[in-house]
Amino acid sequence: MGGALVEPDLEGVIVIGSGLAGLTTTLQLLQKGIKVTLLEKTDKFGGNSAKASSGINGAETKFQSEENKDSIEAFQQDTIKSGKGLSKPDLVKTLTKNSAAAIEWLSGDYLGIDLSKVTKLGGHSHARTHRGGGKLPPGFAIISELTKKLEIYSNEAENLKIKKQASLKKLLFENNQVNGVEYILDDQIHQIKAKAVVLATGGFSASFDGDKSLLKKYRPDLLNLPLTNGVQTTGDGQRIAERDVGAKLIHMDQIQIHPTGFVQLKPNDELSSAANKWKFLCGELIRGIGGILISPQTGGRFVNELSTRDIVTDAINKNCHISQNNLYGIEEDKKICLIVVGEKDYLKAKNHIDFYMFQNLMFKGTIKDLAKRVKDLNPYTEVKEDDLKNTLINYNKIIKSQGDRYGRLDFGHEFILEQELYYGLVTPSIHFSMGGIEINQYGQAQNKDGQVIPNLYAVGEVSGGVHGGNRLGGSSLLECVVFGTVVGKHISTKYKL
Ligand SMILES: Cc1cc2nc3c(=O)[nH]c(=O)nc-3n(C[C@H](O)[C@H](O)[C@H](O)COP(=O)(O)OP(=O)(O)OC[C@H]3O[C@@H](n4cnc5c(N)ncnc54)[C@H](O)[C@@H]3O)c2cc1C
Repeated sequence: MGGALVEPDLEGVIVIGSGLAGLTTTLQLLQKGIKVTLLEKTDKFGGNSAKASSGINGAETKFQSEENKDSIEAFQQDTIKSGKGLSKPDLVKTLTKNSAAAIEWLSGDYLGIDLSKVTKLGGHSHARTHRGGGKLPPGFAIISELTKKLEIYSNEAENLKIKKQASLKKLLFENNQVNGVEYILDDQIHQIKAKAVVLATGGFSASFDGDKSLLKKYRPDLLNLPLTNGVQTTGDGQRIAERDVGAKLIHMDQIQIHPTGFVQLKPNDELSSAANKWKFLCGELIRGIGGILISPQTGGRFVNELSTRDIVTDAINKNCHISQNNLYGIEEDKKICLIVVGEKDYLKAKNHIDFYMFQNLMFKGTIKDLAKRVKDLNPYTEVKEDDLKNTLINYNKIIKSQGDRYGRLDFGHEFILEQELYYGLVTPSIHFSMGGIEINQYGQAQNKDGQVIPNLYAVGEVSGGVHGGNRLGGSSLLECVVFGTVVGKHISTKYKL
């Protein structure tokens, strides 16, 4: 590699990363007439945002029903409670009070994305997670529309330059302020100076290899777990910002383990090779519409399926042992349970479940088939078909009496025992890094002395402080839109570009 190719100074902003955080910030800046160069290290837009399957949160939105009676205060309280005292209250306030505006920006005249279906996910006191009624999962639907808008800008105006397969390597820092970046494209180092740099490089859940591994540094105990993220999720922004400009990283040991990563099988019931490290996520939506979890150890339920993700994961780890001689050859230390949905609830998420079945992640079958899966996982099990039948009969009684000993308050439809069920095998998987670069309420990155690092912003999963010890489902997409908007506004007023 030769010397750096120095590009003309940009009278605008460099945005790094094309997930929802990067795309929102870019569009918000462009809408204000500010020039943007967008760098993305892979060859396609979307990052993990494109995989989001449950939806985006919003309180007091036009899509929530009147009986729902949600409020910004309730959303704020749920977020603080879920964050276990670690979330920064000013960031939570910004997130929640701007949530309806975020839904409006996405679903209004400008972008027109369908977000009309609202579900209650784990840890939420109200139904507030929005998605569309069509076939596309919400993350993909949102990223596609934003990408279309950006294409218009890049075709019609001089204001946007997009560079794919361009990877950030260094932040340029002179006179105590960030003034540009160094990146690699086609084996060539490039240098470009700009008025401000926005890091939107995502989390570090796939940072498990080599000396730079942030998981090894902060959570070596998790290295053996599977994960739901894409390979690109290597924490570049966090690492580079700390190394080059002394950014403060907070809550880096707070990693969310999602309770339900699918165990993928081949049509002949063998374990798919992709099933080892990289998991397809079983969206929380599937529990939200009425799905229940059943232990292969006891044949019974063992948790309020709509508790926060940390609680459900702990319960699976304690209650869902499998045996060494299981049919699939899965290591004995892995914890697996069954997720089961009845026919009427299936109709509420038909597109999702049909897709999962197409991928051999979920199956349609009778209680007898469920009993077979339990035996496959634990060949010496005492659990019989009748035990599973009783679990469903008891659950139907709970729905009628609303008195669940695990504390579940929201239920789907009763199971009809004569009908086929939809079920899959799921296991806890690394999903989201709550920690990252400390920011203030304007998205400005902070240094280790608690001061703003001039001209550096962090938006989305690369930042830390919003979710604390546990993120609520649906709040990550929201964080990207809210803070991308906040940063767009802040830059436009501060720099008068
Ligand atoms: C399977 C799955 C389902 C999910 N479902 C939901 C959901 O329903 N609701 C919800 O709110 N959240 C959900 N999440 C979480 C959410 O999707 C992400 O956490 C969030 O979208 C992060 O957005 P982001 O823009 O910060 O990062 P990302 O979307 O991950 O984007 C980061 C981008 O930065 C690029 N990048 C990284 N390093 C560099 C570099 N050095 N140079 C240039 N570019 C770089 C990456 O290639 C990537 O394109 C889900 C996550 C997963 C994995």
